[in-house]
Amino acid sequence: MFFHLILLKQQNHEILQSQSAGHPITPYQEAISLGGRLIICVNITKRHPLLSVCLWLFFHNLHGTMVVLGMLKICILQRMRLMEITQCIELADFKVVDMHLHLPVVKDDWMKPWRDRYIAENGQERFAQLQNRTVQASWLPEFCFPTPEPPMEDEMEAAERWYEECRKANLERVVFTTGGGNECLSNVVAAHPDAFSGFAHHYIGEENAAETLEKAIKEQGLCGYKILAPVVEKPLSDRSYDEVFEVCHAYGLPVLVHCGILGGGSFGIVSGPNLSPLCLAETAQRFPNANFIVPHFGCGFTNDLLQLCWASPNVYVDTSGNNLWTKWTMENYTLEQLFQRFYATVGPGRILFGSDSEWFPRGFALRYLMDQLRAVRSLNMPKEDIRRIFRENALELLKLEV
Ligand SMILES: [Zn+2]
Repeated sequence: MFFHLILLKQQNHEILQSQSAGHPITPYQEAISLGGRLIICVNITKRHPLLSVCLWLFFHNLHGTMVVLGMLKICILQRMRLMEITQCIELADFKVVDMHLHLPVVKDDWMKPWRDRYIAENGQERFAQLQNRTVQASWLPEFCFPTPEPPMEDEMEAAERWYEECRKANLERVVFTTGGGNECLSNVVAAHPDAFSGFAHHYIGEENAAETLEKAIKEQGLCGYKILAPVVEKPLSDRSYDEVFEVCHAYGLPVLVHCGILGGGSFGIVSGPNLSPLCLAETAQRFPNANFIVPHFGCGFTNDLLQLCWASPNVYVDTSGNNLWTKWTMENYTLEQLFQRFYATVGPGRILFGSDSEWFPRGFALRYLMDQLRAVRSLNMPKEDIRRIFRENALELLKLEV
């Protein structure tokens, strides 16, 4: 048996989960202690009718509510309240590794290199005008996501919340690709090395970027490098960046390179020398020990990324985020089509699951995991390949035990 319980609490919609392993009552007991009131229990009633009656009595005593489906073909509802919804769903039969997260801390300022250049050329006033036109994220309700809390001042508070989130979401490991600067993220990773990995994420164009990267790997416990390609001034193949890629090559680092459109609402970056993943073609071939990961299925540049992957065995794709960029393409790909095209082109070994989770109260974007599991299962992918995509490819890249 393998179940997950997901509870949306009434006040803050916090997602609570519990996994059944061994004693079948334990996760329900835990769920109730965490504030759950309603359990929709489908599978367990089908398979264990007697047990479901015991559970019903158990919840009754705890003033819980239970809906029994499958056995009686009817619903028994007690003290049901709106918003108190619990589902019983089956996820994967292994712990997932999430290769793409961000730590929600105020210190993160991804746009700085681009903004500094813009302001130097056009002035502060025009930049303020641009910002005024930013529209609120209207996509959040599309996924039933709650309103994000602002980023946190204290990185250790963010770390503790994420550590707890990993436990609840039953994640084996999460990789923070950014987190308030290398030093800040280094402290966070050091607090929970059993669950956290982190990437260096200083600007590739800054002075001594190569030394900073080497220090992050050798001394600060970080294990990869993140580049936001659209904010980089010169093409990534420019020789002035070679020193940095030499470090990536020497240490065999995973290098996450966001290509494609960046930003959101009415204020985004859609031009520059590093929009297409093909900006990596030369670099990937010149530094074959480095492993380049292009996130979000190429974020609007799917064809270019497929061709880059075909040409370069050290280029990977990550599946993270809402992938709403598909709306701004004529192809209007579905998740199934994206998985299918990459699976057919590069096989299961170079696709990495990521969620792009960051802020609370959403925490881990379970919705993305569920959508992606549905997509790969609908393609009839073998279980071993699903395991590779959602766990083992990531561990291999991180040089951790599979
Ligand atoms: Zn991201």
